[in-house]
Amino acid sequence: MTKPASPPPTRERERDRAFASAPATEATAEPPVESPWARAMELALEEADAAARDGDVPVGAVLVPPTLEVAGAIRGRNLREFAQDPTAHAEIVALRGAAELVRRWRLDGWTCVVTLEPCPMCAGALVNARVGRIVFGCRDPKAGAVRSLFEITSDPRLNHRLDVVEGVLAEPCAERLKRFFAERRREGKK
Ligand SMILES: [Zn+2]
Repeated sequence: MTKPASPPPTRERERDRAFASAPATEATAEPPVESPWARAMELALEEADAAARDGDVPVGAVLVPPTLEVAGAIRGRNLREFAQDPTAHAEIVALRGAAELVRRWRLDGWTCVVTLEPCPMCAGALVNARVGRIVFGCRDPKAGAVRSLFEITSDPRLNHRLDVVEGVLAEPCAERLKRFFAERRREGKK
């Protein structure tokens, strides 16, 4: 048997390519219009950076209250490695923080702003919490459950649906993930 010229692609390499080949919006000649959610997404990106510093995949989220005051947003970041908790995704951490604040499990009228398209667990949690809107940065073709693999937040069979906004600061959101996985591969080779 002959050796292959290069090692087979790892799951992470596939992830990299997936993020790279998933443009969030069609390219147009028009200058990009700044989304009203850009400020909240910047906070989510800060959380993503903090996650990466702890060795977690850089995903950050904020829950914006019904008043739409970004200053009152509840933050969350991916803590899966840090807490060794399979459910400690950014959205779940932010949901818990918001529910604790208002002392209600129902978060009607709140908006979840997250850097990466939510997975099935988080999309399900957003439906269960009756969150009003989901805003995300880049798509996750491997696990996304709002648009990519499933459409849990707009499934008419469920008892609650969310408004969906996607592609807000998609590039910086995807860039962080690509950089994180590239660095991790480099470290793995040392
Ligand atoms: Zn998740």
